[in-house]
Amino acid sequence: MPDASHSSAPRQLDVAIVGAGLAGLYAIHRLRGIGLKVRAYEAGSGVGGTWFWNRYPGARCDVESLEYSYSFSEELQQEWKWPERYGTQPEILKYINHVADRFDLRRDVQLDTRIKTALFDGKANEWILKTEAGEEIRARYVVMAAGNLSTPRVPDFKGIHDFKGKWYHTGLWPHEGVDFTGKRVGVIGTGSSGVQMIPIIAQQARHLTVFQRTANFSLPARNEPMTDARERPHKENYKARRAAAQETPFAIGGYPKPTQKTLEATPEERARIYEAKWQEGGSISYLYSYTDLLVSKEANDTASEFVRNKIRGIVKDPKTAELLAPNDHPIGTKRLCLDTNYYETYNRPNVSLVGVRKDPIEEITPTGVRLASGATYELDALVFATGFDAMTGALKEIDVKTSDGAVLRQHWDGGPLTYLGLMVSGFPNMFVVTGPGSPGVKTQMIASIEQHVDWIADAIDYLGKHQLDRIEPTAKAETDWVQHVNQVADSTLYPLANSWYVGANIPGKPRVFMPYVGGFDRYKKQCDAVAANGYEGFTLSRHEAASERARA
Ligand code: NAP
Repeated sequence: MPDASHSSAPRQLDVAIVGAGLAGLYAIHRLRGIGLKVRAYEAGSGVGGTWFWNRYPGARCDVESLEYSYSFSEELQQEWKWPERYGTQPEILKYINHVADRFDLRRDVQLDTRIKTALFDGKANEWILKTEAGEEIRARYVVMAAGNLSTPRVPDFKGIHDFKGKWYHTGLWPHEGVDFTGKRVGVIGTGSSGVQMIPIIAQQARHLTVFQRTANFSLPARNEPMTDARERPHKENYKARRAAAQETPFAIGGYPKPTQKTLEATPEERARIYEAKWQEGGSISYLYSYTDLLVSKEANDTASEFVRNKIRGIVKDPKTAELLAPNDHPIGTKRLCLDTNYYETYNRPNVSLVGVRKDPIEEITPTGVRLASGATYELDALVFATGFDAMTGALKEIDVKTSDGAVLRQHWDGGPLTYLGLMVSGFPNMFVVTGPGSPGVKTQMIASIEQHVDWIADAIDYLGKHQLDRIEPTAKAETDWVQHVNQVADSTLYPLANSWYVGANIPGKPRVFMPYVGGFDRYKKQCDAVAANGYEGFTLSRHEAASERARA
């Protein structure tokens, strides 16, 4: 059982971890392994982070289950049986709970505990964290493992609180589930969450109305029960496969690297390749068709048009098909969705699609939705699949400050600034896992989590072994890295899309490209080189208070 005791005396730790999702749990395991006293603070009433909260119908990972899992234990990866090609939310949560038990992680997890403030006391050289309930925690280091898509966002629609039916957000789904049988349901949002949920709700609802602002590209997942033919060769070579995945941009192995430019192939060859990938299922394979799909608009147009034609072929009503065919961003520049029967769902008589780009939602009325044109839709239930304050939301919700007067919200006012996505200048001893400036969200997330946490653990270990106790990036290293992140993004097609990668879904959020899209492989080499060169770009020091403590 988790220890949920809330003591009144400040708790003294080596490392305080914020969050007990996949990142926080691995951080407990890894940091404990180097002899540190650690504890993770989790707002939820269970471990699992994203997979604890996102319980909407059809929630499933779109990275294959044999890849989307921890690699740190060969026994674990051999023992665990994934029942399907892609893990469902309940299955992934079961796996995370299994890991928490198997590695005895729960005794260092405090559930139902939201961290509200984090102050770095420069004199004492320690972080002071305060929980919502007023508990105080003091720690030499803090690891922010609070997630990138963990701050759900419902747009500020007029009238929302007067809606008489029930409304839900995908990222805060009721644990007991929701039965839409016989109801008129509205879904707002057609990102990965909406695309997964819409076909399932359509099977229950009397009528489903989907409000779409931006049409998204989606490819068939081709999910199926796990076959021996898929599992055995993978498990026989798990270690080698994990190592090979680290040499790829997405940290996902098994897909041969493309060698040819798109326009070097004939139209017939391209059609054959795209068709084969469409039939195979999955997104990485499709984006790996050619070397230049994410850097050349002309190349990308061929892959985008192939999918648009598929949509036109599947959806029977030509007007609906055209509305569903994305035309404002190159394929892959917004998160490419994977689906099961998404486009087919629009052929059902009980499903209608409403475009709200030209005619936006004006207000939520007590009985439904009204658009700017005055068109109204009567609804019994409303679902917001409207996404998250991505990448910066969770850290900005915590009041992070230092005794020198630095305030994280102010430091990040014009967009997030980090060095390697791992640390922030002016905020010593605070590490971030898969944060802005890191490739995390553009990769197999668990691979990035393991890489980040390993790097952090090695850095803390290095400090200890060299009688040092403070690490902080230089302002120059941070500026250079942010510039590099932007330059790399600008050399691709990514910035062309209004995605959450640039904060476009949050009105007023500075438009800054947040993830590093240079690839996991390149990033890992850079992190390793920085460490090998004595933590280049970081200032490492021994603090007086610590020296005094040691003398006492
Ligand atoms: P999202 O991708 O940000 O999609 C939000 C949707 O809501 C978009 O269609 C957006 O339209 C729409 N929207 C937002 N505000 C609106 C407004 N005022 N009026 C009308 N529409 C509005 O969020 P998400 O689907 O929850 O996915 C977020 C990320 O989580 C994904 O990109 C992915 O990384 C991860 N995820 C992964 C999986 C998986 O592995 N299968 C599943 C779910 C989520 P615009 O596009 O016009 O902004």
